[in-house]
Amino acid sequence: ALKEKVALITGSTSGIGLATAHLLAEQGANIIIHGLVPISEGLELKQQFEDKYGVKVMFSDANIAESEQIDLMMLNIKNTFKQLDIVVNNAGIQYTETIENFPREKWNAIIAINLSAAFHIMQQALPLMKERKWGRVINVASVHGLVGSAKKSAYVAAKHGLVGLTKVAAIEEAANGVTINAICPGWVETPLINNQIAELAKQQGTNITEAKHQLITNKQPLPAMATPEQIGNLILFLCTDTARSITGASLPIDGAWTSQ
Ligand code: NAD
Repeated sequence: ALKEKVALITGSTSGIGLATAHLLAEQGANIIIHGLVPISEGLELKQQFEDKYGVKVMFSDANIAESEQIDLMMLNIKNTFKQLDIVVNNAGIQYTETIENFPREKWNAIIAINLSAAFHIMQQALPLMKERKWGRVINVASVHGLVGSAKKSAYVAAKHGLVGLTKVAAIEEAANGVTINAICPGWVETPLINNQIAELAKQQGTNITEAKHQLITNKQPLPAMATPEQIGNLILFLCTDTARSITGASLPIDGAWTSQ
């Protein structure tokens, strides 16, 4: 259903992004795989995708903490594909500490990667989408775009910002066939949360399995993590023509976390 489309998924060398890249490529979309991994690993992924799905794939290792590197990546995409139809702003990092002790460089990095990068990418992607009167932007926010948690000041601020940015973009592009939405996952089984699990296990003197269960049920009524594929399938749905009236939304996929 996505044949002839070109999709950039940031942070698609791991976790939610990688699962999403598989699902979009399976539907025939050409893909820009992106992430901070060695070139050899990126090129291996590119080959895998091309062999498995028969689509055209580009790999980028742009560090999206730097707006100049984003500009270069976007230029490469324009030159290679001449179009860009789907953007999934997914790359993100986490760091947990109280506000009092939060390192300034971590604050700056989280705001740059989890929020500003989405702005810089949209600024260049929206004109390309508008030109073809069709486009889909999915910003991977979090439940932390809707509610707060202790020790996550930068992350929560960035994700709330991303939810706000999504609303403005949706209003601006509503008449142009371009939808912009945020999705707000609860716990998802990916490497991003390993540190938090390890820290909790250490604090409580328990094992990883026990710590994981505690971490989930502290916040989330549904006592299991979502899989990256489940998140990817919501993103895929938002890319369909059927979803054309959903825009400006911030959709929880959080096991009732934000229902409380
Ligand atoms: P992950 O750690 O598995 O993957 C992160 C990806 O981002 C990797 O491909 C990495 O290379 C890339 N990346 C990180 N910093 C980068 C940089 N400076 N430049 C370029 N690429 C960079 O994480 P994930 O859990 O799949 O997270 C994906 C998104 O989902 C994030 O925005 C995260 O905040 C969000 N999210 C995750 C969860 C969860 O429980 N895992 C919950 C809600 C939201």
